[in-house]
Amino acid sequence: MASVTAPKGTADILPRDSYKWQYLEGKIRDICARFNFSEIRTPVFEHTEVFERGVGDTTDVVSKEMYTFTDKGGRSVTLRPEGTAGVVRAFLENGLFNEPMPAKLYYLINCFRYEKPQKGRLRQFSQFGIELFGATSPAADAMVISLPYTIFKEIGIGDIELKINSIGCKTCRAEYRRALTAYFEDKKDSLCATCNDRLYKNPMRILDCKSEICREISAGAPKILDYLCDDCRAHFDSVKSLLNCMNIGYTVDPYIVRGLDYYNRTVFEFVSSNIGAQGTVCGGGRYDGMTEQLGGASYPGIGFAMGLERIMLLLNGDEIARPEPQIYIAAMGERAKAYAALLAQRLISDGVRAEYDIMERSLKAQMKYADKIGARTCVVLGDNELDTGRALIKSMTDGASSEIALDNINLQTITEFLNR
Ligand code: ATP
Ligand code: MG
Repeated sequence: MASVTAPKGTADILPRDSYKWQYLEGKIRDICARFNFSEIRTPVFEHTEVFERGVGDTTDVVSKEMYTFTDKGGRSVTLRPEGTAGVVRAFLENGLFNEPMPAKLYYLINCFRYEKPQKGRLRQFSQFGIELFGATSPAADAMVISLPYTIFKEIGIGDIELKINSIGCKTCRAEYRRALTAYFEDKKDSLCATCNDRLYKNPMRILDCKSEICREISAGAPKILDYLCDDCRAHFDSVKSLLNCMNIGYTVDPYIVRGLDYYNRTVFEFVSSNIGAQGTVCGGGRYDGMTEQLGGASYPGIGFAMGLERIMLLLNGDEIARPEPQIYIAAMGERAKAYAALLAQRLISDGVRAEYDIMERSLKAQMKYADKIGARTCVVLGDNELDTGRALIKSMTDGASSEIALDNINLQTITEFLNR
């Protein structure tokens, strides 16, 4: 019988890497806490309608990439392809708008998109994102941008460029859309089939097309920044001056429109040139119309999503400490083995990473194993140690040792020995 394999576009995260993920997720949670954002957990699947309305059905995500199926009760449900729509749905359904505003939420989730798998592009992938509701001010935009900036700085990823743009509001976009349609109409025959389809539905989407020819044509397209109304221009200017004030470097890229339909005003991307074509590691923007789109009252919103697989490609894992056992308790004989279990139990409760033999290995084999798993110290227990109540704690790195009373082995004494 053939052995089973994981579905295409999925990846197993093994122990040799999972601690790096835990480091990244830990950093993210820590930084969110310092910015005073709270976690929200929503279901992995939603009624399909949530994404159709919340993401927009002219997007690639909704039109081509969703894992949609009919459940046994005949309902159409979809595995979430992104986080925002579900969070907006939860924000409205749970009346979070009744709590002190702004609502500052973050999520760490798996997303599902039926795409062509390649480096940095999977069918099940991980996103970290935030959503901030209730604030229209440019200060909110700057705060939201400063959060991923802080993350990249603290995890030591350089070479990431922040690109920002404003895509205006309904008013300024109407005129821009006319100009854009007129521009692309002339070149209609050269555009890809998908973009031909987009031309009258949502011409801004063409600027986001990945095909070579559409990119070339887009390079000469009218720029939204030339069409901004006074309010949108003032908002964008304030965002820029706040970023300047916070020493957050950026470039203005008038062709960033973002892949999703619901954005207005500020949009931004953090892009790395070190991971090939899939260079966008974080993208976001303002989406003031989104809550109405999902049938709620109007609340301004702004957020972003970060692709964690792409961050992992950039993270220098060598600098992340793999959590190794602080002590290996080797034992010879029945009595000592039983005591090792008891001692480990006490140490683990005390907060020590401790391991002992459950493989019925010889002492020599136990020590070899302790070395392989990178244990920092060890004690060897036999009848003699149990009778005297004393043992040698030994460093696995330099061989130094020190006598210690068994009752006195604890987090503090092990740490002291390690730091001696
Ligand atoms: P792309 O242009 O690369 O397809 P997108 O515009 O579809 O990205 P968003 O919907 O904005 O992406 O999602 C936010 C982030 O999630 C992206 O910037 C990227 O880092 C990550 N991401 C999106 N799709 C995938 C995927 N299939 N696999 C891994 N990461 C992804
Ligand atoms: Mg995409």
